[in-house]
Amino acid sequence: MRVLALLDGTQADPDSPLIRVDDLGLMRGDGVFETILVVDGKPRELGPHLDRLARSAALLDLPDPDRAGFERAVDVVLANWSGGREIALKLVMTRGVEGGDGTPTAFALGMDIGPKVHAQRAEGLAAVTLDRGIEPGLMERAPWLLLSAKSLSYAVNMAALREAERRGASEVVFTTSSGSVLEGPTSTVVVARGKTLTTPPHSLGLLPGTTQAALFRAAARAGWTVEVEPVAVDDLYDADAVVLASSVRKLTRVHTLDGKALPDSAGVHAELVELYESEY
Ligand code: PLP
Repeated sequence: MRVLALLDGTQADPDSPLIRVDDLGLMRGDGVFETILVVDGKPRELGPHLDRLARSAALLDLPDPDRAGFERAVDVVLANWSGGREIALKLVMTRGVEGGDGTPTAFALGMDIGPKVHAQRAEGLAAVTLDRGIEPGLMERAPWLLLSAKSLSYAVNMAALREAERRGASEVVFTTSSGSVLEGPTSTVVVARGKTLTTPPHSLGLLPGTTQAALFRAAARAGWTVEVEPVAVDDLYDADAVVLASSVRKLTRVHTLDGKALPDSAGVHAELVELYESEY
């Protein structure tokens, strides 16, 4: 099931053409997006997602997204959804058509969540570490690389996932060349050790994750220590849990890294899922 809505509050047919061939989102991946989890009609972290959309747009020198328009489109998708309990709700905004007046193309698209997501949430997954080719300081030094923006140019991230599949895994932990953990292609890395959760700082050029933030809020309230600190790849092998946090997949534990089994984290993972769900 899919429901498509435009920012003026109208619905559109998701099976019919909508985007012009000269749209810069299509031609150059020039635009920004968000993917939001909706459960039982309630979008999770909608405010932080809209904030992040605005942040990404600013990094790309795009106009400020029409927040009220996106909220209207979200409402239309939710009001017309008759599918399952959960929706992956995508908000997209591009730079509009080439040579146009700069009016962005924008829409909200609700989609079903596939069986692979449910399987990964339940069973965890195997990941590989892959060099992302970025080093600390690059985000400030080279803002044109758009590090930490959720731009539509995700071809590199998807290529990394295909490389993971070639290596017999289904996910990626990106690293710096010097062996520091960055993020997944569509997720934030969270490491549990005792009652401490750690995630790498987004100043390394990472997307600030809304799921990780929600988990850290809940964990801090429950008395855990939460810290934003660099994490070395070597530290992943003896952690109590290595988790990939992302809106649609929620918290997925990594059970195997670069072909090596990690310590069994099923219990810790269940505890973290309970903490995360307590936010909603
Ligand atoms: N990092 C990257 C590169 C992502 O694309 C995503 C989400 O797709 C995340 C982290 C996780 O962000 P969130 O938890 O807000 O979905």
